[in-house]
Amino acid sequence: MPGEFELIRRYFDCAGLNQHSPSVVLGIGDDCAILDLPAEQRLCFSMDSLVAGVHFPAAADPALIARRALAVNLSDLAAMGASPLCFTLGLTLPEASDEWLQAFSAGLAAEAAAHGVSLVGGDTTLGPLSITLQVQGLLPRGGALRRDGAREGELVIVSGTLGDAAAALDLLEQPAAALTPNRQQLLERYYRPQPRLELGQALLKIGAGCAIDISDGLLADLGHILERSCVGARIDLGALPLSAALRAECPERALERALNGGDDYELCFTLAEPLWQQHRESLCAWVACTPIGRIGRAPGLTDAQGAPLVASGYQHFRGE
Ligand code: ADP
Ligand code: MG
Repeated sequence: MPGEFELIRRYFDCAGLNQHSPSVVLGIGDDCAILDLPAEQRLCFSMDSLVAGVHFPAAADPALIARRALAVNLSDLAAMGASPLCFTLGLTLPEASDEWLQAFSAGLAAEAAAHGVSLVGGDTTLGPLSITLQVQGLLPRGGALRRDGAREGELVIVSGTLGDAAAALDLLEQPAAALTPNRQQLLERYYRPQPRLELGQALLKIGAGCAIDISDGLLADLGHILERSCVGARIDLGALPLSAALRAECPERALERALNGGDDYELCFTLAEPLWQQHRESLCAWVACTPIGRIGRAPGLTDAQGAPLVASGYQHFRGE
């Protein structure tokens, strides 16, 4: 088993992980990392922790855990409209297993390369398995997709399809289920979330002001937008984008999964209708986007008929 410094050198201070960001002046190996920032941009950063037994099974494939950990952090940058720069890694391990670290490092490197971000530092400790990442990104001065940016009359739009990752979790609870192409597609959505970075940056460029990434379910996350923006919304349940795989695998619960299922990491954003009409094609070139409702002045979230919609997304610390 490698010692702490050998471990860092072997698995984290390596070309596959630290050669993706030109703005890194000094990366892993010193007391701090140093970045060179363009004058007209702002630094934007976010942190997420994944704990074994809470966010993933301790025995899960380390490469998938690593990819997912970086992807969900990058998803927060996407939801601000930021372009990713680099990240740091706080890793707590129950033991220094070469096999585990090799796979974890390779998975992390693959995801880092896919999005052009470098690992620039971190901390490594002994304890129950947990992974904390902080991602850094750049935003043009003055702009951001904020939760408090929704305005009355704007369309509520979501990217991709909703509910797939939650349906995958259902499947994982019944491991005997045969792996059909539909089921494989749903599992892929859970294991390999796609941070919608290009869409977020495109939204910011065309003048959008509000987005959130859907990690806890559409109703819960749209609820955050409504609360922070002091507005309400009506959602047309018939308009929700559901994948064919979701409809086929859980026809009775598809709508519930799309409304309350977490882990999709799609973007939910608001946009004035003329901007949508003008830019829908270029936005949908990144990922299909679907208008599902409209922001209104009256607080609360309802369906098209005005019946209240109540979130039941996952919350840590909430007494059940
Ligand atoms: P210090 O004692 O100054 O905190 P460490 O011994 O913890 O430094 O880390 C040595 C170097 O290795 C630092 O540059 C740190 O950022 C980096 N590092 C430590 N753990 C990790 C990790 N899991 N991933 C990336 N870099 C790490
Ligand atoms: Mg340290």
